[in-house]
Amino acid sequence: MRAGFRAALVKTALVTALAAGAGTASAAPCPGAAGFPAWLSQFRQEAAGQGISQRTLSAALDGLSYDASVVKSDRGQGVFSQSFFEFSDRMVAKYRIQQGAALIQKNRATFDRIEQRFGVPAPVIVAFWGLETDFGANMGDRQTVRSVATLAYDCRRPDMFRTQLLAALKIIDRGDLTAQTMRGPWAGELGQFQFLPDHYLNYGVDFDGDGRVDLLRSTPDALASAANYILALGWKRGQPWLEEVRVPPSLPWDQADLAIKLPRAQWAKWGVRRADGNALPGDQVTASLLLPMGRTGPAFLAYPNFDIYTEWNNSLVYATSAAYLATRIAGAGPYYRGQGTIPTLSMAQVADLQRMLNARGHHVGGVDGKLGAATRAAVKAEQARLGLPADSYPTLELIARLKAGG
Ligand code: CA
Repeated sequence: MRAGFRAALVKTALVTALAAGAGTASAAPCPGAAGFPAWLSQFRQEAAGQGISQRTLSAALDGLSYDASVVKSDRGQGVFSQSFFEFSDRMVAKYRIQQGAALIQKNRATFDRIEQRFGVPAPVIVAFWGLETDFGANMGDRQTVRSVATLAYDCRRPDMFRTQLLAALKIIDRGDLTAQTMRGPWAGELGQFQFLPDHYLNYGVDFDGDGRVDLLRSTPDALASAANYILALGWKRGQPWLEEVRVPPSLPWDQADLAIKLPRAQWAKWGVRRADGNALPGDQVTASLLLPMGRTGPAFLAYPNFDIYTEWNNSLVYATSAAYLATRIAGAGPYYRGQGTIPTLSMAQVADLQRMLNARGHHVGGVDGKLGAATRAAVKAEQARLGLPADSYPTLELIARLKAGG
């Protein structure tokens, strides 16, 4: 289920944050179910103080009970650790590309109006739609207020979920959804694009003109709201987001880094070509070189619009897959898989690597087995120090060199 998957990603970032702060005195004690009614009654007063109507408070909170299964899901969640190959093979499936293209045709008039108003092209929106909920098929069916209230009461992220609970009540108060129709997965995401309640409240758009923002059942509302959110994240009209390229073996690999944006003229000078073999335009349009499987795997130019993908979801594997799916729906071919197999480190091996990187004075944060931005940066520094191609992609060779005291 996409919904659960998205929750896993949200959670992963938070788990890391929590691990980093573990052992500090600020950690709240975890309450049991018994204290929930008293907490809820106190929260209710705060919500009333924020202007939420008694009618909404009554409809949403009367008789609301603690949901132990939500806390269990929250505690038991696996950590996302798939490689770009594994994840994109699963998510950028043929049926999603075909269904995405068919849905653009079916909703052509709506997408035209959306692009005119927000500047976001249909394939970009449809790719998120497919990844988040399989185009609205998997939105989750739990009562959101109950899930979010339980998590706001629980000890792990009470502030974040208190904000979400207040937003959920405001959505009900505004008349967009009722406490009964507001349903989703256990972590509180809502609708066809799995917006958290505060995103729903702040970026939701009534695009079918019925006076309500319904991100669950109105496709025009859901699509326009996604575009509105993408625009708010900084989307630039008429510009590309991701383009597959071919790279020569002689490239200065340390330049392949999302933090480094260079003119296409520079990439062209270094021998980077379009995926079809043609020359890149020698212009000043800037892009980063993205190598999600290292220098022997597929290569992409990530344009400034790619930044909205990492804002949407801070997992680079998710972001790259979503942007790539959008290019496929827009007509691009499948990426070049590289020569031979590209080994992927297990989570245990990445954790092992992280311990060694930390011991060498790098700060990769928690040892979580995930290949995040800080770990990639430390890998790059060690590769450069050891005279290895500094493409930020960790290999067994690097681990062996570090273990040997290199
Ligand atoms: Ca509407």
